Amino acid sequence: MTEVLAQKDAYLKSFEATITSVMPQEAGSSTDPPSPAIALDRTAFFPGGGGQPHDLGWIADIPVVRVKRQGEEIWHWLEAEPPGGPPTEGDRVQGRIDWERRYRLMRTHTAFHILCGVVWRDYQAQVTGGNMEELHGRMDFEFETLRGELVHEIEEKINAEVEAARPVQVRFLPRVEAFKIPDLIRTKINLLPPQIQEVRIVEIEGLDLQADGGTHVANTTEVGRIRISGYKSKGRINKRIELTLES
Ligand SMILES: [Zn+2]
Repeated sequence: MTEVLAQKDAYLKSFEATITSVMPQEAGSSTDPPSPAIALDRTAFFPGGGGQPHDLGWIADIPVVRVKRQGEEIWHWLEAEPPGGPPTEGDRVQGRIDWERRYRLMRTHTAFHILCGVVWRDYQAQVTGGNMEELHGRMDFEFETLRGELVHEIEEKINAEVEAARPVQVRFLPRVEAFKIPDLIRTKINLLPPQIQEVRIVEIEGLDLQADGGTHVANTTEVGRIRISGYKSKGRINKRIELTLES
């Protein structure tokens, strides 16, 4: 079982770990997935999820090209074999994430929680899905009353929340405690698989509370200026909002 260090400390950039398993290389398949792949006892790499892409970085100075959770393990695909020979179970390795990319993803992810919080607080519209890249992404809402004219108003409101310098906190709650928080019910906490007994909560103080596995900045000011760069009506009820952050 891999300890996911990013869940507790999103600002951790490098770490030391032990290889717990090596995935056998498939003969003749050098493209997707690239090999070799290793599982570690602990990792600072975010494996992807909740619309946030997985991290990139380096392990033993070899580029990590893909990271994925499989069951309880986090697997890291290396671009090539380390110069010292194939990775072996029990080896100690140094890992380092591509921090500039990750930090942009943290700012982007928090920007979307700000948007969720504002849209729920002022328009009672629920989010249905989303996807993000560095400094850009989209989010879909059940938002029947959203019109093009509202977009500018929402943009002003989300930037006011950035400037309000709200702290962003992460904590872990037992499942039964989390289910008692009304704010969490709206984010479909009831869809969590029953085996998950501890729920990770991300709270933008006074604005937004979600069960979430992603990495976030510690304060909304770190997000910087947000622009609503696109708006699309995808039917009577479903609307899409695109955000772009200043680099
Ligand atoms: Zn999220």
